Amino acid sequence: MNQLTNKVKAFLSQDPIPSFINGQWKKSEFDQASAIENPANKEVLTKVAQGSVADVEDAINAADAAFLQWKNYSPKQRAEILNRFADLCERDAEELAQLEALDVGKAINNARGFDVPFGIECIRYFSNLILEKDFEKNLEIEGINGKQVRIPYGVVGFIFPWNFPLTLCMWGIGPALAAGNTVVIKPAEITPLSTLYLGILAQEAGIPEGVINIVPGRGSVVGETITSHPKVKCVSFTGSSSVGKHIGQNCGMNLKPAKLELGGKGGAIVFNDADIDHAAGGLAGAITLNTGQVCCTATRWIVQEDVADKFVEKVKAQLQKTVIKAGMMEESEMGPVVSKKQQDSIIDYIQKGIKEGAKLILGSDQLMESEGYYVPPTLLMGGEDNICFKEEIFGPVAFITTFKTEEDAIRQVNSLDYGLANSVWTKSPEKAQRVALEMVSGNSWVNAHNVFAYGLPYGGVNGSGNGGGVNSIETLFDYTRGLTIA
Ligand code: NAD
Repeated sequence: MNQLTNKVKAFLSQDPIPSFINGQWKKSEFDQASAIENPANKEVLTKVAQGSVADVEDAINAADAAFLQWKNYSPKQRAEILNRFADLCERDAEELAQLEALDVGKAINNARGFDVPFGIECIRYFSNLILEKDFEKNLEIEGINGKQVRIPYGVVGFIFPWNFPLTLCMWGIGPALAAGNTVVIKPAEITPLSTLYLGILAQEAGIPEGVINIVPGRGSVVGETITSHPKVKCVSFTGSSSVGKHIGQNCGMNLKPAKLELGGKGGAIVFNDADIDHAAGGLAGAITLNTGQVCCTATRWIVQEDVADKFVEKVKAQLQKTVIKAGMMEESEMGPVVSKKQQDSIIDYIQKGIKEGAKLILGSDQLMESEGYYVPPTLLMGGEDNICFKEEIFGPVAFITTFKTEEDAIRQVNSLDYGLANSVWTKSPEKAQRVALEMVSGNSWVNAHNVFAYGLPYGGVNGSGNGGGVNSIETLFDYTRGLTIA
């Protein structure tokens, strides 16, 4: 078991950890705190203050006041400060990784290797982009000396889910801050720790007071206030499709842009000419990564009939080797799921799926007797009408169907309203490109699943989001608006 660093111990010893508002740590006047649990052993890690409406309003007012200063910093000044923030995140990378492993339950080596460094890279990517690119456009229209500039919105409200608290927060605030906006962040109720730790680093980096505000608390209080407040000029939400639709409606009523990154039920088409070992390895990894709690991961495996048996045997063998242990254990490859609620929901889905006729190929339909909220990798096989094929389970569970023709495989992938990410596995580059174009989603990956890089836009369509995406130059457009001067 990894030892907690002294900084992590000190951070967790606060009772409760307050909100970060206007550069200060503020105990909520609400005077309510919620216990944050370690899903690996059900112990309380610490308590976190629950923000009130008044706290959120303070945060929004602080962000609004800070905007007047921050927007007028030159791109160079903003980039310098944000890069200093990134340096400090790198210095405290182990602290951030430990908080992710403790709070979410994820394997610490995944947090060290992906969540933390990839999140930090986002701050650097967008800080460099605002230096390199000129966003001013001369409009050559006869008789008019016109141009369009892009300017920040003002206060941007961010609402995040619990599965990648740090990475998703960086994906959001990186471009928004670089573009000159100020931010009010609401982390998920159950995983606020790494986000709150960023407050310490923001303070030390000299990010001006009010530019970053972090208010943990309930969706119905903190989240609703952020989305409906008139001084919040743009809302960025990452989370479930149902809450996303509600937020979209709320923002629509107030005519403010809502950037929605929502749920998914990714399909993977495995053709009979695929490298089956490679596909089995890649897809086993897709459901064990973050214990399957990944919005874009492949959870519907659509396999060509004549290679289905071979594929199933190989993927089973891969999954059986997974080292399932507390995320803080060095050797852990897959930790527990995030909460009792999530564990119950996953088991409930598996039981319903079996009741509807699915065959259980690997895993269990019973709660595991263990000190944490563990669910083993689980494979089900059956028809497309099964609940486990149709609904997002958000756990280490994949549902396998078979197909005979390319048309049928594409039809199966596109049979749901989700459209976040799919993949195609084949040795034929022509077939891969053809199928990639036909699968309805924001991302079609080829012979891989979960492919991320800065410069590669990532986002969903239909029930998975409104398309803007993250991680590319277009993201800066989502956090700025055009101003025409003529
Ligand atoms: P959720 O929708 O239940 O909650 C997300 C956030 O919204 C939380 O902070 C919650 O407190 C807040 N919230 C809840 N009700 C609200 C309201 N009425 N107003 C404002 N805020 C409110 O999602 P979750 O269970 O935390 O996360 C899992 C979901 O997130 C999955 O569906 C997953 O696919 C999705 N997700 C999507 C992406 C993506 O990039 N597309 C990334 C990660 C997770």
